[in-house]
Amino acid sequence: KLGNETAKAELGRAAWKLFHTTMARFPENPTTEESAALKDYIHLFARLYPCGECASHFQQILKKYPPQVGSRNAAAQWACFVHNEVNVSKGKEIFDCKDIGDWYDCGCAEEGEDDKK
Ligand code: FAD
Repeated sequence: KLGNETAKAELGRAAWKLFHTTMARFPENPTTEESAALKDYIHLFARLYPCGECASHFQQILKKYPPQVGSRNAAAQWACFVHNEVNVSKGKEIFDCKDIGDWYDCGCAEEGEDDKK
């Protein structure tokens, strides 16, 4: 049981890292297709998330707070907000979303491109 909880938490940290980094690298001015792709990705992420109780819980959160995919900033702020919803439900601290822009830098910007903002 304890081992299960450790593995679940590790999965959660890895998944959140990927999730927020995806938002941080989403275009500032996405095309309609890019926004649609992110929306699909988020819904499939929620549906296929390997921890079943987490997946159904997260799908409820998405129903209440639909993905914001109109821009990088909107997506990043939305992701931070829904992660905080999970934090609250687990009795964890709220993360300050105003710092989100600096937090998830994967070092994958192309030459001449700004990694953030
Ligand atoms: P995590 O919540 O994993 O966060 C990792 C790091 O991200 C933090 O250390 C902090 O630096 C940063 N961070 C924290 N909050 C935010 C934020 N709001 N925005 C951006 N960055 C932030 N576990 C369950 O037990 N029950 C569930 O129902 C459940 N549902 C989940 C649903 C999803 C979609 C995911 C991805 C995970 C879920 N988890 C669930 C796992 C849980 O959210 C945590 O990942 C796990 O408990 C480990 O927590 P942690 O304290 O190490 O930090």
